[in-house]
Amino acid sequence: VKKMGGHNYKFYNYELDEFVKEEQEMEKALYHAIENQELKLVYQPIIDVNTNEIVEVEALLRWTSPVYGSVSPLVLIQIAEQSGFIYEIGEWVLREACNQNKQWQEEGYPPVVVSVNVSALQFDQPNFVEMVNKILEDIDMDPSYLELEITETNAMDRVDEKLEKMESLKSMGVRISIDDFGTGYSSLAYFTRFPIDTLKIDRSFINDMLNDENAKTIVTTIINLAKTIKIKIIAEGVETVEQLEYLKQKGCDKIQGYYFSRPVAPDLIREMLKEDSKL
Ligand code: C2E
Ligand code: CA
Ligand code: CA
Ligand code: CA
Repeated sequence: VKKMGGHNYKFYNYELDEFVKEEQEMEKALYHAIENQELKLVYQPIIDVNTNEIVEVEALLRWTSPVYGSVSPLVLIQIAEQSGFIYEIGEWVLREACNQNKQWQEEGYPPVVVSVNVSALQFDQPNFVEMVNKILEDIDMDPSYLELEITETNAMDRVDEKLEKMESLKSMGVRISIDDFGTGYSSLAYFTRFPIDTLKIDRSFINDMLNDENAKTIVTTIINLAKTIKIKIIAEGVETVEQLEYLKQKGCDKIQGYYFSRPVAPDLIREMLKEDSKL
């Protein structure tokens, strides 16, 4: 049991290192998860530190299995990648997140960007760009309200192919961010080749930065360099006001973390957007 947000508890019955034996059984369970509607998305707000308003939400997958209870998304994604279900699940996530965002907009809430995690296997699919395009067309959604998150480590593999796809997505108007930045040992200069909009500084650095000089240096260096190459920064995993104040003072653009809100159901996002807009 992990304590979250002061008053919320999260039960992940199966953590990554515990599930090895159940793997095959879980594959079968996952097979039925989509059609049985056991998968859903929650959304975590991302805040502009200067205006204090929600400018984005990150879609995060949740699986409540009748057999396994709440399964950690890291476990779920691993099983999905091993079994090949990742393509179907990844497409479902994209469509669901875009549908939800379009719905909020049609209801009159202030528009926000929806950010969707894309696994390496999914991004490397030959028809990935077409799939994204088809979803945007089906939903009639403005592409500039969709952001795709690719982890730093994933972005460093099959680079030429990825660059080409990123260029196509950019020309469609879709935004691209590099997730978990700082964990992959790439240099920021390396990423000047990529047509990316945002770097998301990994939560581990934010967590350590106020009591560890190395982490502090890494965070401030990333922020400063990103500014010079005009890439936006999101600090992940901000949990305290001290972290927020430090990041703000260093010129960080946006924050995400339990300090503002944990990931929540679509209705709670409505409540928060309502407050923002004084609807
Ligand atoms: P991530 O993309 O780095 O997502 C952020 C994770 O950090 C989420 O965990 C979120 O709940 C957690 N988090 C946010 N703020 C805080 C904070 O202040 N403190 C702490 N301790 N944690 C915070 P979650 O939802 O369990 O997701 C874990 C990972 O599973 C994600 O990490 C992502 O890699 C993967 N994942 C989740 N949904 C999807 C999806 O739809 N597709 C793919 N490919 N991966 C997904
Ligand atoms: Ca992410
Ligand atoms: Ca992340
Ligand atoms: Ca992470």
